[in-house]
Amino acid sequence: MNLVDKKRRVLLKLSGEAFGGGALGVNPDIVSGIAKDIAKAAQEVEIAIVVGGGNFFRGAELSNRGMDRGRADYMGMLGTVMNALALQDFIEQAGADVRVQTAISMAQVAEPYLPLRAIRHMEKGRIVIFGAGAGLPYFSTDTVAAQRALEISADEVLVAKNGVDGVYTADPKKDPSAKKLTDLSYQDALVQGLKVVDATAFSLCMDNKMPMRVFGMEQISEALIGVPVGTLVRA
Ligand code: UDP
Repeated sequence: MNLVDKKRRVLLKLSGEAFGGGALGVNPDIVSGIAKDIAKAAQEVEIAIVVGGGNFFRGAELSNRGMDRGRADYMGMLGTVMNALALQDFIEQAGADVRVQTAISMAQVAEPYLPLRAIRHMEKGRIVIFGAGAGLPYFSTDTVAAQRALEISADEVLVAKNGVDGVYTADPKKDPSAKKLTDLSYQDALVQGLKVVDATAFSLCMDNKMPMRVFGMEQISEALIGVPVGTLVRA
């Protein structure tokens, strides 16, 4: 493939919260809606997805309530795999090809995480979903999204947020004077103390000049094909 034919390649981060619609587990109506948007955009864009698991377990929360942190984090990672399988199923129903790759080996369920194979899948028009986070306790799926985007040479990390459609000067739910920003640098975000993603994900993207677009869940279709929705954070 020559450079002229090169397709846009993106890494979409979906939080677990979105899958459950605020409740525990997977809400099929919501996931099927997201899946349709993704399957449609995959006709023109190469798409890899990192799914969160907050609709099942968050390690830090279980650990605060007495569990061993490492074990609780593995439970969190297994939750992301359930979301990955649900999303795979609904994207397939919407007519696109999907492969799931997990950072913890589970051969009966998914392929192991193999970045070169993930790239090959995308070049063949398949969507790739990364489950089980980094396979490492004490990490978040935001950080994994940044790392995977870098490793598969994505053009952009797309962070779909629940309940907010971009980065604001203050929390819009608490401060009515908060203004939405359309474009800002990582440096500005740091200086102004704006929370975009967790600190490790933020610094990975900043240090490696990976652009990040933050937008609302209902804007996934547009963000995938490159419409400038939400907020662009760049080096
Ligand atoms: N997790 C982990 N390592 C990773 C990714 C995730 O230990 O590389 C665990 C961690 O306990 C986390 C949970 O999986 O709380 C769910 O992921 P996350 O909180 O990032 O999901 P989201 O908030 O995006 O739904």
